[in-house]
Amino acid sequence: MPKSTPTPKQLQKAIDLAEAACLSAGAVLTPTRRLVLELLYRAPQGLKAYDLLDQVKTVKAGATPPTVYRALDFLTAQGLVHKISKANVFRACAQGCHAHAHPGLFLVCPKCSGVEELDDDVATHALLQSLGQRGYTIAAEEIEVSALCPACRA
Ligand SMILES: [Zn+2]
Ligand SMILES: [Zn+2]
Repeated sequence: MPKSTPTPKQLQKAIDLAEAACLSAGAVLTPTRRLVLELLYRAPQGLKAYDLLDQVKTVKAGATPPTVYRALDFLTAQGLVHKISKANVFRACAQGCHAHAHPGLFLVCPKCSGVEELDDDVATHALLQSLGQRGYTIAAEEIEVSALCPACRA
């Protein structure tokens, strides 16, 4: 997904790709899951769960926290959404659908809570290899690095 708010065309394309990824995994993008994903695509910096619930409620008045959490569980399991603990937000995957073999690599700015997903296989691979040599396997689906962003450094 682009870093800025997507155009309707980009949004539709992203939803289509997500739907195809779910289908090929034998899963279904139900209307609620689709709605949550669409709201996250519209918010490239990510959303806190309760902000997401507020937005879901404007479309589905009867939505409750479990409605949103179940959809988020599904979307994160599918690799379509990442949970960024340091910034306490859920965020659509910048690569569309994240390959399960690789954890996501994120830079989280402690000043503005901005999040950037790095597409850096070399760095990820080097880290996993180093852990492996010490007998470790990574336990998180996201690697979060606290890093001041260019705007906050300036
Ligand atoms: Zn990702
Ligand atoms: Zn920043």
